[in-house]
Amino acid sequence: MSNHDQPLEQPLLRVTDLAKSYGGHAACREVSFDLWPGEILAVVGESGSGKTTLLKCISAQLACDDGRIEYLMRDGVMRDIHSLSEAERRFLMRTDWGFVHQNPREGLRMRVSAGANIAERMIAVGARNYGKIRGTAEDWMDQVELDPARVDHQPNTFSGGMQQRLQIARNLVTHPRLMFMDEPTGGLDVSVQARLLDLLRSLVTKMQLSAVLVTHDLAVARLLSHRIMVMQGGEVIETGLTDQVLDDPQHPYSQMLVSSILPV
Ligand code: ADP
Ligand code: MG
Repeated sequence: MSNHDQPLEQPLLRVTDLAKSYGGHAACREVSFDLWPGEILAVVGESGSGKTTLLKCISAQLACDDGRIEYLMRDGVMRDIHSLSEAERRFLMRTDWGFVHQNPREGLRMRVSAGANIAERMIAVGARNYGKIRGTAEDWMDQVELDPARVDHQPNTFSGGMQQRLQIARNLVTHPRLMFMDEPTGGLDVSVQARLLDLLRSLVTKMQLSAVLVTHDLAVARLLSHRIMVMQGGEVIETGLTDQVLDDPQHPYSQMLVSSILPV
């Protein structure tokens, strides 16, 4: 983050004039931003403001109607994700990128064991040794505060908070260069949310993750993000450093959002 003014450094992700409509309804309009290596960008806004649509478009899960989405590949070349072959895109999704869904059922395979959920992504990056794969899976369960003794248990025997932690472990095991997270603490009890938030905070610091984090919860943005982008009706209305946006919002909508959600 401190090197942003060096002209040679490139963003990890550059989104330019992205647009996506459903029928005649514009869910995202003219969305542009850069994500820098090591940065956590929180996308905030009320329900229906286009956050999930944006996240799905930039992670190549949904085709956008217009705009460029450029990603800094491992070889240092910026590539528009639309120009990638299907195999290249699949490889990114399995290895370089992680996606944490709000609903862990969308991000986990519920009919295989917890260990197999983690192993699947390790195998995608070439791991072959059974003992090593199992050991790493157990280690990752431990890192997300799941009992490694449950490595053979299926995720549907886990609580919602445990499933979410397993989804995080499954994604982080390949050391992704870019994480996409859609309301990672949404849909959980408040005490479970707080624990997950603590865990996420220590993991993003330890692993120096870069992430686009979608949340309607400004407290989550405050704890995890360096920068905030506020969306309203599919458009970006304000972007700035997290503390600046939350302590001194400029746009009337951001002011309303901050005053209605954060207790003074
Ligand atoms: P958020 O994640 O901020 O709640 P979404 O991206 O889910 O917002 O939705 C943005 C807008 O697009 C909303 O008006 C929503 O109703 C609409 N929308 C989202 N997904 C679809 C879809 N699959 N079909 C039609 N409209 C959709
Ligand atoms: Mg959403």
